[in-house]
Amino acid sequence: MSQTTDTSAAPSAPRPRPDLFIDGAWVAPAGGGTSTVLDPSTGRSIGEAASATPDDVDAAAQAARAAFDDGRWSRLSGRERSRVLLRVAALMRERAEELAQAESLDVGKPIQFARMVDVQNSADQYEYYATLAPHQDGAVRDTPLPAFAYTRREPRGVVGAITPFNFPLILSSSKIAPALAAGNTIVHKPAPQTPLTAQLMADILHEAGVPDGVYNLVTGTGPELGDALVRHSAVDMVAFTGSTSIGRIVARTAGELLKPVHAELGGNAANIVFADADLDKAIGTVISAFVFNTGQFCMAGPRLLVERPLYDTVVGILSDAVGGVPLGRPSDPDTVIGPLVSAEHLSRVEALVADAKAAGGAVVAGGERVDLDGGFYFAPTVIAGLDNDALAVREEVFAPVLTVQAFDTEEEAVRLANSTPYGLAAGIQTTDISRAHRVSERLEAGIIWVNGWAMLDAAVPFGGVKSSGWGRENGPEALESFTRVKSVTIAVDPGVGG
Ligand code: NAD
Repeated sequence: MSQTTDTSAAPSAPRPRPDLFIDGAWVAPAGGGTSTVLDPSTGRSIGEAASATPDDVDAAAQAARAAFDDGRWSRLSGRERSRVLLRVAALMRERAEELAQAESLDVGKPIQFARMVDVQNSADQYEYYATLAPHQDGAVRDTPLPAFAYTRREPRGVVGAITPFNFPLILSSSKIAPALAAGNTIVHKPAPQTPLTAQLMADILHEAGVPDGVYNLVTGTGPELGDALVRHSAVDMVAFTGSTSIGRIVARTAGELLKPVHAELGGNAANIVFADADLDKAIGTVISAFVFNTGQFCMAGPRLLVERPLYDTVVGILSDAVGGVPLGRPSDPDTVIGPLVSAEHLSRVEALVADAKAAGGAVVAGGERVDLDGGFYFAPTVIAGLDNDALAVREEVFAPVLTVQAFDTEEEAVRLANSTPYGLAAGIQTTDISRAHRVSERLEAGIIWVNGWAMLDAAVPFGGVKSSGWGRENGPEALESFTRVKSVTIAVDPGVGG
């Protein structure tokens, strides 16, 4: 692979803070605990973030409950909430570079993507839901009853938001913006590895005029805090994004308590290249689909299915090309592939690639870790010749690792693509528009991209089926999921002659 060499550091490197944001103020965690946050590009500490306890979750949930119940946010009109959300977006754009630097440092995310994708998409979310906030209209229902019946869309109450490490800002915004637009209050628990942008956003939300207690932030470990948040009696709804295994635990607990839970879980998408595809474009799409966000992308395309006449050609092009994708320090503006999030994850990826070799896979590019600054780098890797039951094909590898399989018919392509418990995204590369529609309909996934990948926008819903969960983020669908419907039926006196 080509390694980038720029050593420039962020002008003022962001640092985590050792406190929690509860009821509009930064406060020390009850137990005084902190945990070290690492820079994945060096493995070194960037500082200490607060490590909250269930007592802190209780304080945050009580603050969110009180803020919801007294109506300081929930009873504002949609237009009033909209103005605040627009100020949030404006402040994010003013502080875009600071947010991008924090996201890049915390996740090891290449700075060009933190700037172009993460910050922009997140600010878009606040703008988009600001435009929808005034339009949560109910409906008048026609009924033979001597009555006037209408529906109201109301906020659900206190939302417990739990977010993963890979897109901390985007996946927090895709919950917080619609939840706030609908009038809810929030307790947010980000991933312990990546608290930085959540901490910056607590200040931005406050400065924009989100009232005290409406957004609360608790940082710390998953099993202890996340579980306390899901169980807390003041929390009315859970919005979770993370792995399928943790999602099952969260859904089980929420299910026992009969709390609605919005689950956005793992993925293992197939990218299908038909022999009629525009090959140059398809190759670019294939590469970006598996290397974007260093492959730590729930909607990545790590399973490439190629129609047999193109198979050898595609494998040959990929084996020559992926080594040229710039891998290097996240701070270098040319870097496309940064480090993985942790040493543990790097070891897991190495083990999966070793297993793929043992299972008869041919590693035609990459296949090993990259020694740079002590960071958790893994070379972009292409593995051909694996059976469908190899671990590297079945599991969500969550790294820049691509497996390539051949198929002979459209039927077989659909069968291979669907042969996974996951169902988040899938891609079709073809110039045949009828095939694009036909195959889109048959793929078991919540998101289909044709002749491209990761075309994401605040207005277009995303979410999975099967073991990828059932929530939908973005679009009016997300706003709706943060509301509940009430019906009001008022008896009408038929009057004289009725
Ligand atoms: P993870 O499941 O390990 O953690 C997600 C969050 O859950 C973190 O905040 C974590 O601290 C918390 N958590 C851990 N144990 C918990 C428990 N017992 N109860 C409640 N909360 C708990 O996921 P991760 O490693 O941070 O993120 C990667 C995973 O997320 C991948 O599987 C990826 O596919 C998935 N993901 C899905 C989407 C989507 O939209 N579908 C988006 C991004 C990431």
